[in-house]
Amino acid sequence: MRSRDCKQEIIAIGRGNFLRKVGDVYTELMPRDSFVHLHLHTEYSLLDGAIRMKELMKKAVEFKMPAVAVTDHGNLFGAIEFYQEATHAGVKPIIGCEAYVAPRSHKEKANSVREAAYHFTLLAQDDTGYRNLVKLISTAHLDGFHYRPRIDKELLAQYSTGLIGLSGCLASEVNSAIQSNNIEKAKKAAAEYRDILGADNFFMELHDHGIEEQHQCNRVLPQIAKDLGVRLVAANDVHFLRREDHDAHDVMLCIGTGKMVQDENRMRYAPELYFKSPAEMRELFKDFPEAITNTLAIGERCNVSIEFGKSKYPEYPVPQGQTREGYLRELCYKGLEERYGERAKIDNQLRERLAYELGVLEKTGFVSYILIVWDFIHFAKGRGIPVGPGRGSAAGSLIAYVLGITDIDPLSSIRIAYRHRISMSIFAKRVAAKFSNMCAKNTASVASRRSSPSAS
Ligand SMILES: [Zn+2]
Ligand SMILES: [Zn+2]
Repeated sequence: MRSRDCKQEIIAIGRGNFLRKVGDVYTELMPRDSFVHLHLHTEYSLLDGAIRMKELMKKAVEFKMPAVAVTDHGNLFGAIEFYQEATHAGVKPIIGCEAYVAPRSHKEKANSVREAAYHFTLLAQDDTGYRNLVKLISTAHLDGFHYRPRIDKELLAQYSTGLIGLSGCLASEVNSAIQSNNIEKAKKAAAEYRDILGADNFFMELHDHGIEEQHQCNRVLPQIAKDLGVRLVAANDVHFLRREDHDAHDVMLCIGTGKMVQDENRMRYAPELYFKSPAEMRELFKDFPEAITNTLAIGERCNVSIEFGKSKYPEYPVPQGQTREGYLRELCYKGLEERYGERAKIDNQLRERLAYELGVLEKTGFVSYILIVWDFIHFAKGRGIPVGPGRGSAAGSLIAYVLGITDIDPLSSIRIAYRHRISMSIFAKRVAAKFSNMCAKNTASVASRRSSPSAS
């Protein structure tokens, strides 16, 4: 169907069927002999993935792929960049994650990295799925971090709406059981995932990098899929773009795992883990044509839209019965008395200045923002966490001073160079920079505690 005909038909059929028709357009534009990579690691799979977004999209366009997924190890760090680059290139972005799933509770600590978690591939099917994925991965980092940021099946069940799961690589629960010749255990694990996600949203994932263990799994997975009423899907666990990138990736892997290239006993990847063309994938899985077709069907089903260009500050939750503006005023006037004592009551200049600044905050929509900054600075000071005295334009703000965000009196005899240049954007940037410095220090210390990446 040509696009103009299609548009007319969309109008004719009405809004109720709109999404179905968009799906038809996708199918129409999609070369029937194509393939969609649904398991792919970018450079955000830290020291384990060697793919840069722009180059990836160029390749996807060259291969006429209608969509491509990102599934970095345990994080969504690259999701926005991926989404924007894919959209820019005209390729549909599928946001996912190769999640770590703890064998039992995500809060339970195992004795070794091997026992800490299995791998499991998750893809966001829609906006709800994307939000659930964000929730799962955030919880994994905040509550489930032990060697890896981990979720568990209970959490997955809680946030499963809008998610598609693929059974995973050799380090998955299903494939680990198959490699131990425990087919019943593999089947039980697969059945649990099917029950959590639904039979339409769970696929048995086939890989083939020429590794015997994968062949062993691929001999069993189709039967499990059949028994459980779920479908197959082919993937290549992509870690680098071209076959010739394998050596460079191998060096990076050594850096990540703290090994020497010449070490014999170390983790290695096959050169096969590159971004294969549709023809290569179709040839590789010629015995499982439905596993190829299903990548296109999943690509068609996944539709996440992320809005840009609008500030989305969180809204500060004020005590019941109060407005944010009223609460901020109350805090400010209380702070004014604490900082200036009697002078707060009689110095008109002081009160006018505070009223002026409050007016600017209200007009520019920064009330929630300043309350949040006040909250975390207040929290830090209350617990003896060091906070700087303030600098730049932030130190020129009376509100920042009376709220205790800064400790420099902007009306004192020390003249603040920025006094006449107060703009909320500058102020916001400075406070945000201060906060991000604190975060960066924390992230660096967390990162340094993390161990090396694991196989695929
Ligand atoms: Zn894996
Ligand atoms: Zn992987």
